[in-house]
Order: sequence, then structure tokens, then C-alpha cells
Amino acid sequence: MVEDIDLRNLAQCLRLGKKLHDNGFGLFRTMLKYKCERRGKHYLVADKYFASSKTCSCCGNKKDTLTLSERIYNCTECGTKIDRDYNAARNLRQYGIRMLHERNGLSA
Ligand SMILES: [Zn+2]
Repeated sequence: MVEDIDLRNLAQCLRLGKKLHDNGFGLFRTMLKYKCERRGKHYLVADKYFASSKTCSCCGNKKDTLTLSERIYNCTECGTKIDRDYNAARNLRQYGIRMLHERNGLSA
């Protein structure tokens, strides 16, 4: 499961210069897709507008804003306090499961 991140925007946000898309991110995704398909695994791409970081993986509440410096996701609805990246990974896992269910005509 990968996110369809706009690499040019990411490069600007992280101030890494305009060549991030040339330095291997795109190649990494191409290789990952190839490896997954070769081994019979699913390669899924999340919509670039899916709010994996801003959404609480416990209750589904979505924050309007979340700065890059906020490393702990603090949910104001259910009180969950969780590592920001772990929270996003849990959301992407659920998103991927839903995608597969939809693809196979099953309810999530
Ligand atoms: Zn929550």
C-alpha cells in the first residue's frame, strides 16, 4: 500500500529542491509494484487526497490541520494518543482492505 503523493509538492514542503522526483522515489514505486506483482501480492495506491495523517485510526475523526512538527497524533474526540506515522500506517492498512473488498465486490 503506497500513497499517491505529489512528489513536487513534497519536495517543496520539505525544502529538498525540485529534483526529488528524479532521485529514486518514482523508481522505488515502480520496483515495488513489480516485486509485488511477481510474488502475487497486492500493490495498491491510495488516493492523494486520502487524509491518512489527519484521520484518527481509532474513531475516524478527521482534523482540519496537522503540522509536520506534531509527531504524536492527539485525537480530540476519543483521546487516542499515538505516533503520527503509526496512525497513518493503520489508516492506510484499513484503506487498502476496503479497496480490496470493493474490488472483490465484498462489503467492508
Ligand atoms: Zn479518535
